[in-house]
Amino acid sequence: MATIAIPAELLPGDGRFGSGPSKVPQAAVDRLAAAAPTLLGTSHRRPAVKDQVRRVRDGLRRFFDLPDGYEVALGNGGATLFWEAAGYCLIQRRSAHAVFGEFSAKFAAAVAAMPFLDAPVVVESPPGTAPTQGTADVDCYALTHCETSTGVATPLHRRGEGLTLVDATSAAGGIAFDPADVDAYYFSPQKAFASEGGLWLALLSPAACARIERLAGGDRYVPAMLDLGVALANSRADQTYNTPAVATLFLLAEQIDELNARGGLAAAAKDCAAKAEHVYAWAQASDYAEPFVADPALRSPVVCTVDLDTTVPADTVSAVLRAHGVVDTEAYRKLGRNQLRIAVFPAVDAADVERLTAAVDHIAAALRG
Ligand SMILES: *Cc1c(COP(=O)(O)O)cnc(C)c1O
Repeated sequence: MATIAIPAELLPGDGRFGSGPSKVPQAAVDRLAAAAPTLLGTSHRRPAVKDQVRRVRDGLRRFFDLPDGYEVALGNGGATLFWEAAGYCLIQRRSAHAVFGEFSAKFAAAVAAMPFLDAPVVVESPPGTAPTQGTADVDCYALTHCETSTGVATPLHRRGEGLTLVDATSAAGGIAFDPADVDAYYFSPQKAFASEGGLWLALLSPAACARIERLAGGDRYVPAMLDLGVALANSRADQTYNTPAVATLFLLAEQIDELNARGGLAAAAKDCAAKAEHVYAWAQASDYAEPFVADPALRSPVVCTVDLDTTVPADTVSAVLRAHGVVDTEAYRKLGRNQLRIAVFPAVDAADVERLTAAVDHIAAALRG
């Protein structure tokens, strides 16, 4: 393996293909450095930082073309914290969860552990597929727009009477959808939005805001850090309940502006789909690789999973790539497959994706002699 050298012309210009954390454009980091003297290390209750929160909220409203009444909320803790907060402030009594990988399973497990809720209904399907059944008699239905652990993307549509909660952590910014089909569409900024981790953001429908205000202001004890009513009130004032990472907010705002300048969600989704199509078409044409997700309609346009046959160990391929500065192509570890996972978020260049697949072909040829 140590002897496999990838020719320079096959190496991507930027070697970051991780599914989150993901590539952060250097130009945005440079703009952060330029803004730093009057931004970093200043109070989050003052205009310089509140302006960044406003940029993020206004920019997302425009990017997602939100209907009147929808609100953009944010807070610290990432999507993982939002799961807990949703258990306190969005699920009234019982939720249903479409579970088809690690992330969707974690939300269901978090809710199952909450003593004040009924046991959740878990609608499960094997990795590489997605459940489609609806469920009656629940007040929230939890979907995952892109299951980052498997590379399955699901169409969003309401599956019952309750609120539709969507974990869009890796999908948001790269897959088109209709906001009218969701009530809480939440994500973290270190995936398709090319920033750092630590924050959660949520697009909330009027029905979700009403549920939050009822549950957060009701009899249930809600820890302040998990109180979406507190988060919503702070968001409306362009601030967060406690101190945010200002660099994360700035990099996020930069990427939102960039994507809005490129044509918003429709353009970003088209760009990601074209890059993903390259990966899937390459795998299909190859005699040693194939897309992991059998149903083309479920193949994610942002996180591409490709199985390799036993003649080409994926661990070796990823290790050779890593030795050349091309990183984070490893499959989700718990999936336990001979697989590459390649993120094609909006910040990733199409030409780099093409070089990556050519580099993998080069490594495979060397391994197979
Ligand atoms: C990355 C990811 C998460 C976790 O995000 P954090 O910011 O680490 O909390 C949750 N759900 C999905 C689908 C993800 O891809």
